[in-house]
Amino acid sequence: MKKDCLEIVRSKCENCSGCALAKNRKNVVFSDGNPSTAKIVLIGEAPGEMEDETGRPFVGRAGQLLNDFLSDAGISRDEDVYLINTVKCRPPENRVPTEAEQTACRKFLNAQIDIINPRAIVLCGATALKTFVQLDKKQTISKVRGQWMTINVDGKDYRAITIFHPSYLLRNNSMAEGSPRRLMQEDLANIKNEILPDVDHSMDKNDVVFMEPREIAMV
Ligand code: SF4
Repeated sequence: MKKDCLEIVRSKCENCSGCALAKNRKNVVFSDGNPSTAKIVLIGEAPGEMEDETGRPFVGRAGQLLNDFLSDAGISRDEDVYLINTVKCRPPENRVPTEAEQTACRKFLNAQIDIINPRAIVLCGATALKTFVQLDKKQTISKVRGQWMTINVDGKDYRAITIFHPSYLLRNNSMAEGSPRRLMQEDLANIKNEILPDVDHSMDKNDVVFMEPREIAMV
């Protein structure tokens, strides 16, 4: 049922020309992960070159680094996480998507969250954080990351937490106490303990999804 609903949204994305990013895309980068078993929605910024080529989010060096961190924390990218971006098409030169582009794409993002109905949303990097949380001047991702909060998406509350984006970690190799990579490890361990304490991957194959996704509200 979730897959069917998501295919409807995917089809709308693939035919979308709702913002200027449609012009130069090679592929719409819709999602990755197993919607039937995912308990977490992880949201990044926007597709990069490799994502645009392959149509999959979080590939290339940054994606591999994320895979390594998830795996180390006992979180399965394939089973536990549904990965998406704030916009589905690649911004030129990998620039940050504009507010107008994010607004145009928001209906797809919200629909994906609604259909997955996750236990938690992980905001990966500053752009994803700012999409959902209004920050004051003193709040930076370094101060906000690792803190549980509640965010509201289309009238429904979700637990959420912010982590560093793996692209940032590629530029920060240190594993010293308090380094970004060490904090990433701590944040993912926190997420595993809080959100997935009961997950046994050998059981997931027999899972039955009883919850009907709410009606997809597409503007
Ligand atoms: S980024 Fe989103 S709104 Fe813009 S063209 Fe792609 S799918 Fe449509």
